[in-house]
Amino acid sequence: MKQDNIVPPDAGSGNALASGGNAVEVKDLVKTFDNGNVRALDGVSISVPVGQLLVIIGLSGSGKSTFLRHLNGLHLPTEGSVEVLGNVIPDLKRPELRSLRRDIGFVFQQFNIVGRLTCIENVLSGALGRIRGPRIGAMMYPKSLRVEAFEQLERVGLADRAWQRTDTLSGGQQQRVAIARSLMQKPKIVLADEPVASLDPEISGQVMELLVQCCIEDGITVLCSLHQVDLALGWADRLIGLRDGKVVLDSLVKGLDQEEVMGVYRELDPTGEKENEYRVSETDPSSQ
Ligand code: ADP
Ligand code: MG
Repeated sequence: MKQDNIVPPDAGSGNALASGGNAVEVKDLVKTFDNGNVRALDGVSISVPVGQLLVIIGLSGSGKSTFLRHLNGLHLPTEGSVEVLGNVIPDLKRPELRSLRRDIGFVFQQFNIVGRLTCIENVLSGALGRIRGPRIGAMMYPKSLRVEAFEQLERVGLADRAWQRTDTLSGGQQQRVAIARSLMQKPKIVLADEPVASLDPEISGQVMELLVQCCIEDGITVLCSLHQVDLALGWADRLIGLRDGKVVLDSLVKGLDQEEVMGVYRELDPTGEKENEYRVSETDPSSQ
């Protein structure tokens, strides 16, 4: 395969930053669904400096996924503005949006990898935006990308599984493949929507550590929604709490105590009975 099939790295959305030098600049974002009957986001303003590791917490239904989906154009604002890497999202034409999406990796709760493909093929698919033309099977990719894909698998500790079908791996291993695939994209931003919600606490910690370490090494800005407050406090630079589509906490983690964080949940739960559900990671014996 010819090397010249690789799209030069600067063919993406460039190095532009949102106003104020931030990677993400969201102002007064409102998102309604069902003809305005559901107000999923209600005046959210968040600026994220380049390289920051931001974790978003909040009850189920508080708007975490809706917020993240605005950042790569999966949702368009009802009101307000969303600027990512210098691109005002609602103004982008289709090719410009495609180009911006090359710079944004997305890691989902349900991994979203192709189980019947090998690990290396899944990781290589992260480079599809960097090359011209479709590819079927690992050997159809340029050798330089295959070497890179191995290196990414090595970073997540799965080089020895490269040629194994991905659906034969455990949940934690599958999510590590998904992380390697996003890194293969060479993103400037990684959006992670409850990336460890399907994993048990010990594996969750390991997967978060991998995600965070790799992103720090590569200088990637991370916006990650998490269900587990202990993990959020362990890995984030900054914590945002959402409740009913509004920002109710926005603080650097340094110096923030767990009681303050629990306030994000407490007002909805005056008895405090549900607090422990969020304080500690939940165990799902079926995951590993
Ligand atoms: P979270 O990720 O914090 O659990 P979501 O962002 O998924 O919350 O949802 C926020 C609110 O928006 C919820 O009330 C949810 O039911 C609603 N919602 C999200 N997506 C849609 C949609 N596509 N259509 C209608 N309502 C939606
Ligand atoms: Mg969600």
